[in-house]
Amino acid sequence: MTSGALDHIRLTDRPLVVCDVDDVVLEFLAPFQAYLLSRGHRLIPRSFRLHGNIVSAAGDALAEAAVSQLILDFFDAQEHWQTPLGPAIESLKTLSTTADIVFLTAMPPSYVAQRRRLLDRLDLGYPLVASLDPKGPLVQALHAGRPLPVAFVDDMVRNLHSVGESVSGCLLVHLMPESEMHRMAPAAGDHVRRAADWDEATLLIGAHIAPG
Ligand SMILES: [Mg+2]
Repeated sequence: MTSGALDHIRLTDRPLVVCDVDDVVLEFLAPFQAYLLSRGHRLIPRSFRLHGNIVSAAGDALAEAAVSQLILDFFDAQEHWQTPLGPAIESLKTLSTTADIVFLTAMPPSYVAQRRRLLDRLDLGYPLVASLDPKGPLVQALHAGRPLPVAFVDDMVRNLHSVGESVSGCLLVHLMPESEMHRMAPAAGDHVRRAADWDEATLLIGAHIAPG
């Protein structure tokens, strides 16, 4: 299932914080909208999904395959568009003094070099896993049942629920940017903690991973 995606990760004997990248550490939706405009398209936030909501200059919705290709093209060009989300850099630096940080991004692994360069340029040198597999089994394989606290941060409810089903005792933190589209995102279950911003997420995670 994990097919070697985790082979390069070396954890220490500290708590683990697994963190999504798009719209958690790096802005995704806002720069993607700017990218779409540069290509003559635009996003109309009618629901919490990209497919069906991107239209041409003439106002016609783009076909599913065209939207999927635009997302891939954006991943290819991400270094020119994506910026840190809020104080993500500082928050992760604080958390990294007491925990291992691992990025888990739902992006085709073929774009990992671009993402690695962008994260490194932003002083976000933490290990990166790019995989389209469900996140729960990946976090389960990564943490491997160690008797240490583990936390997971993501903007997508399905990922939070996947990890919640696979990793017992994992703190699940729902963090997402402010946008018209994100206001239409489904709510997570009661077992997921909603953080308004990185400052709140850092407090929640800090309390969960603190010794004793
Ligand atoms: Mg995300």
